[in-house]
Amino acid sequence: MTQRVRFKNLERFGFGPNVMKKLRVCSRCGQIVRSRAKTCFDCGERLPKETLFDRYKRKHLKCQNCDTVLTADSLYCSNCGNLLIKGEKTI
Ligand SMILES: [Zn+2]
Ligand SMILES: [Zn+2]
Repeated sequence: MTQRVRFKNLERFGFGPNVMKKLRVCSRCGQIVRSRAKTCFDCGERLPKETLFDRYKRKHLKCQNCDTVLTADSLYCSNCGNLLIKGEKTI
């Protein structure tokens, strides 16, 4: 549940998952660009395929079952209740 609240707050600041899916980051200058654009408006570099949300997902823990992004200390998925299996961590 805390997960969703956090996402809601993020959305308010302009960085919810739905917003992040529409944004990409320029690999050259780091500018955040709308994903419709093909090149960075700042430096003209071709933009990578992955969106800001893809990058975010790669860096964070996510549910193998439903793809919900979760915090690193989550034990269960807040969306589907799936028990999360953590790769390297030994508790
Ligand atoms: Zn750029
Ligand atoms: Zn899930």
